[in-house]
Amino acid sequence: MSLKVKVPIAWLGAASLVHHAAVVCDGGRVAYAGPSAAAPPADDLLEIDGFLMPGVADRHVHIRLADPGAVLLGGVTAVRDLAWVPDEIFELANASELPTFTGPVIRAAGPMLTAPGGYPTASSWAPPGTGRELAGPEDAAAVVTELADHGAAAIKVSLNSEAGPTPSDAELAAIVTAAHERALPVTAHVQGKGQAERAVGAGIDEFAHTPWSERLSDVVLASAARRMRIVSTLDILTFGEVTPDLRTACDNLVRFREAGGTVVYGTDLGNGAIPAGIHVREALLLHEAVRMSPEEVLAAMTAGPLAVGGPADLIVLGSDPLVRLEALGDLRVVVRAGRIVPG
Ligand SMILES: [Zn+2]
Repeated sequence: MSLKVKVPIAWLGAASLVHHAAVVCDGGRVAYAGPSAAAPPADDLLEIDGFLMPGVADRHVHIRLADPGAVLLGGVTAVRDLAWVPDEIFELANASELPTFTGPVIRAAGPMLTAPGGYPTASSWAPPGTGRELAGPEDAAAVVTELADHGAAAIKVSLNSEAGPTPSDAELAAIVTAAHERALPVTAHVQGKGQAERAVGAGIDEFAHTPWSERLSDVVLASAARRMRIVSTLDILTFGEVTPDLRTACDNLVRFREAGGTVVYGTDLGNGAIPAGIHVREALLLHEAVRMSPEEVLAAMTAGPLAVGGPADLIVLGSDPLVRLEALGDLRVVVRAGRIVPG
């Protein structure tokens, strides 16, 4: 069954705003996206007064601590899980590819690679197996290969010196080399003085959170901006309050962006009071505290444009978030794999 969604305005991706637009979904893929006058016919038509955009992608979640159905119904059509028990999470990730799955498409890192006794092995949120304790560089490389064979979407490393020991520089080097051999990015939880610099020096690809434990130097940020990206997760530092940690993180993120760095939206769903679905406060922090334009925020919240051949995952909002980002909280329709998600 094909579906045509017809709206007065659609943001198909960066610099692609179309008035009187239509998106045609067929077989879970986008068959057409553009002016409605030129759209091909479809079996079903949904004509709705609203603002259409790609479904939201959350690049940092712990989906087993949330309700996948509520996440999808809340407008998030794709998530990346950054630390869970590997057997459980890879099975769920495989299941999420089926059209019958009630939830977003899940991609997963598997466990967080850490030192013996390191974070998160003693954390109450993390069941046994969420942290994988490394026994030297050879073991680290072998673990990466094992995770790559299981379909890991990224490799997550724990550099949290406030919560215990961290992997050695030799282990970090082995992880990065092995991951890059398999074309996998390495993402790091950095917490504690000097850990962000270690991540940059080791050639890690991404900060899984905006670094908040210290104000990073312009030199470190410039070097990070050249080849790393940052997953925002700002609201976990505050849950709506203004805290010193939030100020430090925003200061780092503003200067990272000024140096040309890329920021993507992520919430760390599962950690504290983060709602399932689109987290409007995270979007507002990116706009108000990090000074990203509404369009830059939408780009950070989506995995790519709605384009022919791409996944037919989209949402319709009641009003225009480019005018007022709070519109992200006024969700009218969610379409995943070309099907309207029942409310
Ligand atoms: Zn997390």
